[in-house]
Amino acid sequence: MEPITVRLFRYHPEQDDKPWSQDVEVDGSFRCRMVLDVLEHLKTLDTTLTFRRSCREGVCGSDGLNINGRNNLGCITRVEDMLGKKNLLEIRPLPGMPVIRDLVVDQTLFFEQYKRIQPWLINDSPRPATERLQSPEDRAKLDGLYECILCACCTSACPSWWWNPEKYIGPSGLLQAYRFLQDSRDTATAERLEKLEDPFSVFRCRGIGNCTAYCPKGLNPMKAIGRIKAMLLREET
Ligand code: SF4
Ligand code: SF4
Repeated sequence: MEPITVRLFRYHPEQDDKPWSQDVEVDGSFRCRMVLDVLEHLKTLDTTLTFRRSCREGVCGSDGLNINGRNNLGCITRVEDMLGKKNLLEIRPLPGMPVIRDLVVDQTLFFEQYKRIQPWLINDSPRPATERLQSPEDRAKLDGLYECILCACCTSACPSWWWNPEKYIGPSGLLQAYRFLQDSRDTATAERLEKLEDPFSVFRCRGIGNCTAYCPKGLNPMKAIGRIKAMLLREET
């Protein structure tokens, strides 16, 4: 099988004036492997290559990468599915976030925005003797929301986030905000909505849909944001 050219984004801030691009060839048999397998292999050849990874099962959300122009998780992206006619696999860090080194980005703002939405259950009623129960119907309302693994593939693809990462919560955080707004056991709906009611936190979303197009878990942050906007607009009337 024809070898594959892997083009890597490289940047070591203590050694490099600016980022540079490194082309490396790997055996054609990597076509049926995952992108993370390619990176692991390249790291055995050059131990300075730096990237995040953990579970390698698409669950931990650590290895969000930009692969041939699309954000995705390295561990569940088959090399063959990404290779075009050029036989080139280009691996870059997630866009819109500062690069710490090579393929590792600084996610401080991403997690600060996540913290803002208070991603925990709020319920002021007395604690029951056992767990707080939910009907199967109410539980089903969380489907498509609770599965988010915080990989940042959506937020990093969002132009509104690129321009206002300090003020716009971004699609990942907003999907989680909606998850708690939907939870029948949460009693802080009004307070949560009040905290979101400003021109930037939610309404900076322009409905372009990059977030939904790139979510590796098949979730739909754009739809969740639309529902939050509807809730906020209802509150106003
Ligand atoms: S739909 Fe909204 S959140 Fe999603 S990428 Fe577009 S602007 Fe960003
Ligand atoms: S919504 Fe999807 S892309 Fe965004 S952080 Fe969650 S799992 Fe990742």
